Amino acid sequence: MTWPQITDGDVLAVRPRKNPLDPWKPYAFLVEPERSSAGRIDDVLTIFLTNRECPFRCTMCDLWRNTLDERVPVGAIPAQIDYACERLPPANHLKLYNAGNFFDPQAIPREDYIDIARRVRKFATVIVENHPRFTGDECIRFRDLIQTSLEIAIGLETIHPAILASLNKRMTVNDFDKAAQMLIKNQVAVRTFLLLKPPGLDEESGVDWAFRSIKHALEIGVSCISLIPTRSGNGLMERLEAEGNFSPPRIKNMERILEQGLEYVQTSSPTTRIFMDVWDATRFFDCEKCGPARIGRIQRMNLSQQIEPAIVCQCG
Ligand code: SF4
Repeated sequence: MTWPQITDGDVLAVRPRKNPLDPWKPYAFLVEPERSSAGRIDDVLTIFLTNRECPFRCTMCDLWRNTLDERVPVGAIPAQIDYACERLPPANHLKLYNAGNFFDPQAIPREDYIDIARRVRKFATVIVENHPRFTGDECIRFRDLIQTSLEIAIGLETIHPAILASLNKRMTVNDFDKAAQMLIKNQVAVRTFLLLKPPGLDEESGVDWAFRSIKHALEIGVSCISLIPTRSGNGLMERLEAEGNFSPPRIKNMERILEQGLEYVQTSSPTTRIFMDVWDATRFFDCEKCGPARIGRIQRMNLSQQIEPAIVCQCG
């Protein structure tokens, strides 16, 4: 495999259409359990906010599907939060995920920060997503406004310098480090997303670089790591797959890197949580017989943060 150099033009050339969305309604919302930083299993409400598309064009991203071309009107984001909260049971923590960067002023209007803060301060933790280029004083101002714990999720993706460059994310490992360290110094917890097997890596090097990236994130002081098995589905990833530059990771390696990560955090940083994303994980099955059991095992490890007994199957 080689490391494909991707441009915005490459991404845009093969994109399918976006989904039609209402700026006054979130495009999805759900409550699910998650292991908290206090070691409890708490309910987390995730609101997938409808807002303007992220200005970056990352190789693996398909979040733009559920975004708008224009900035939402002032008042729409608080209305979306109300819409979801009225329809779901109470939860301990809140994720406000906007398919982009919360502190991008073209995404979440700054005029809405006070109204958002009033609605979210009842949650023990508020988690938003952001890019290092939008990480600055506004994050600290928002932390003060919400009067509860703020956690910011930043995609480091990988510390492999050539692969990170080829993801067209327009950031370096050093950009991530500086943004994360500034936030941590200001009492904002940092969560990070790391890719398992981004384009250009085979199975073994995919696991190896994911583990190196876990170690780096821990050294910087992140308090939560979310491992994302790299998926196709945005047009460009299918092109890379056809060219031999990408193939999805196997579910056995999703288990393996989660085991390695859990083992490592238990000795080096026991309060850090490490999760494997299992959304749409059937696409990573090696075998239909043991695939569902392997997803179940990953989900149990996510909640317990312990290595669970291995799945035994004739597939090896
Ligand atoms: S910064 Fe995040 S939301 Fe924006 S294109 Fe990259 S992965 Fe997608």
